[in-house]
Amino acid sequence: MGKKGGLILPILTLLLVIPRLSGDEKPLLQFLDSTGMELRWEPYRETARLSRGYRTASFKVGEPWLLLDFSRQVPCEPISKREGVLLLPRSTEETLKAFFFDGKKGAGPRVGAIFIDAGHGGKDPGTIGRHLTGGKELVLYEKDIVLETSLMLGEMLKNHFPGKQIAFSRTDDSYLTLEERPELANRIRLAENEAIVFISIHANASLNPAAKGFEVWYLPPDYRRSLISEKEVERESKEILPILNTMLEEEFTIESVLLAKYILKGLEAEIGGVSDNRGLKDESWFVVRKAKMPSVLVEIGFVTHPGEAELLADPRHLQKIAQAIYNGVVSFVRFFEETHERGGSP
Ligand SMILES: [Zn+2]
Repeated sequence: MGKKGGLILPILTLLLVIPRLSGDEKPLLQFLDSTGMELRWEPYRETARLSRGYRTASFKVGEPWLLLDFSRQVPCEPISKREGVLLLPRSTEETLKAFFFDGKKGAGPRVGAIFIDAGHGGKDPGTIGRHLTGGKELVLYEKDIVLETSLMLGEMLKNHFPGKQIAFSRTDDSYLTLEERPELANRIRLAENEAIVFISIHANASLNPAAKGFEVWYLPPDYRRSLISEKEVERESKEILPILNTMLEEEFTIESVLLAKYILKGLEAEIGGVSDNRGLKDESWFVVRKAKMPSVLVEIGFVTHPGEAELLADPRHLQKIAQAIYNGVVSFVRFFEETHERGGSP
């Protein structure tokens, strides 16, 4: 017994050792305990995200900056790690407190703009469905039905959100390149606390005439983009660009998945009875990839399926699809803005 105890005690003592503090710093965990904030730690990269409600502050051990709400980089005394304990300098604690607790009411993140991208257009018809029904030929162009759906969706969103910008990549049969679409969205002016969501609308085609249904795509988690350009970051911190971009990417993916889920739920409710729910997809489409914002791509149905083509040729069906996407967007916006107000976690 005595022998065993003699062995255990030194180990316990070792584990309980607290590194000598300079007095100007405290263990980060102590700060989290006293504030009720959450920490997500990435041991491999030694990066972490502190969160309270919808506000976040990300940092990397030893780096003299904080990334606030995935968008604003501010200088600070670095958070360090000694003997396995994260140490928070007093001045950095003050910065965090000011950010998380002294924020002005109403200045929290909100959706400032919704960008609707009707796929294809002009010389690019998208997919084409040709069917013979009852001796009559039905020819369906993707560019037409996605434009009609987009305009219906835009009308509804304008009425519901008079305070938000509702923008389109096109409102007529004009041609835009894939690059121009996200560029247009990126040009929209937003306040510092405002986010923009990007919704691309397409229709599907398949060599298999039995394929039918709707699906929603979002940005895959492993795709890395350059969200923060070099000139936005101070000259000495260029090497941190990949880290900052990874952090931003993570957040946009979470938002994109949420938005995609809400829209899919809306589609299931509106047209699930007549079409098939093909689920969420996470491959990346070019249009969605290039947008620096939560983005989804909605495939509203197959123009190559005889029955679905007939539905898609009917404006009443397109109206239901627009309604479904609208319901999804409204749910997403409510979640995005209310979660922050309540200070709850997403
Ligand atoms: Zn398309």
